[in-house]
Amino acid sequence: MKSKLPNLPTSIFAVMSKMAADHKALNLSQGFPNFKSDPLLIELVNQAMKDGYNQYAPMPGDIGLREAISQKTTSLHHKTYRPDTEITVTAGATQAIFTIIAAIINKGDEVIIFTPAYDCYDPAIKLFGGKIIPVQLRAPNYKVDWNDVEAKITPKTKLIIINTPHNPSGVIFSEEDMLQLQSIAEKHNLLVLSDEVYEHIIFDGNTHFSAARFPALVSRCFITASFGKTFHNTGWKMGYCLAPEYLMKEFKKVHQFNVFSVNSPMQRALGDYLATPDHYLGLSAFYQQKRDLFIHLIKDSKFKIIPSKGTYFQMLDFSEISQESDITFTERLTKEQKIATIPTSVFNANNEDFKQIRVCFAKTEETLVSAANILNAI
Ligand code: PMP
Ligand code: GLN
Repeated sequence: MKSKLPNLPTSIFAVMSKMAADHKALNLSQGFPNFKSDPLLIELVNQAMKDGYNQYAPMPGDIGLREAISQKTTSLHHKTYRPDTEITVTAGATQAIFTIIAAIINKGDEVIIFTPAYDCYDPAIKLFGGKIIPVQLRAPNYKVDWNDVEAKITPKTKLIIINTPHNPSGVIFSEEDMLQLQSIAEKHNLLVLSDEVYEHIIFDGNTHFSAARFPALVSRCFITASFGKTFHNTGWKMGYCLAPEYLMKEFKKVHQFNVFSVNSPMQRALGDYLATPDHYLGLSAFYQQKRDLFIHLIKDSKFKIIPSKGTYFQMLDFSEISQESDITFTERLTKEQKIATIPTSVFNANNEDFKQIRVCFAKTEETLVSAANILNAI
């Protein structure tokens, strides 16, 4: 059989987590917390199961959860998405992103992505015959040059995918970035996918400028979100998508046949839990404390550090330590030093290597101290 994706490697997250397990290394590679989700949320899931919420949820999602998502978006961004027509609950952001791309990308459509880019965009675009047009962002500030973006737009450009706060770099889009995006999308009649899975993890008093805040963007934009990131349960694979009705209609045409609906008791529980804003409003402070502790612990190491502005990832530049490729370097670190991290060239256009590795600091203080001891000795 001829492969549809002949050159696609296994996801770096699967590769590095397996390598960490095989070599009994501290796993700071794949992004997941190593501490527990709130017992109250777990109790709510148990209760929903006991209360009989064990059959299919409605196709777009539990109505209580969709209402809670709508209220959260209104209170944070002053834009109300209608629970009945503009919100769908998904199996994590990954399924939402795949579904969006499946619903709108036709053969030959061009899609602009900002590299380093999260790894699920590229294969989904290719599967549906789309062409990736990368815009490379560069350390230290990974700033977007919007003239460069506009220069890459052709009559075939259909979609721009953004991700703020950005994985892996930890940078965030400013209000000015979002206004530039809005004006370009309007001028060239483009659709936008705004991947906002780290919406509640943003540091130093900065604001998350969701696409939901910009009316001319809202009218052409899908927004994706992940409860796994917000509530410390990445393994539950729960998330959602927001979009205006005409786009959500197309989204649901795919959603109903690739998953139909997602985990019912968890939706019940998340609906109740989300109704209390304190359950997500404290997240930035929680992770900022971890970022600051981690940076403090490794301040005398040979790694160059530019503090992350959002997400739970920190980029470390190792150019003063080694001239190896980031892939060789992270492999060696895992096997010899017993610490697993992510090589970031795999997220770049043409795998361009910048001697940067990504570390996940969503870890207990004890794990961060152990990680720092290893990194300081390198
Ligand atoms: N987008 C980005 C930028 C991510 O880091 C992740 C990983 N959580 C996802 C999407 C996928 O999220 P989920 O685990 O909810 O599928
Ligand atoms: N989003 C997570 C990360 O960036 C990984 C999710 C996955 O393993 N697919 O590490």
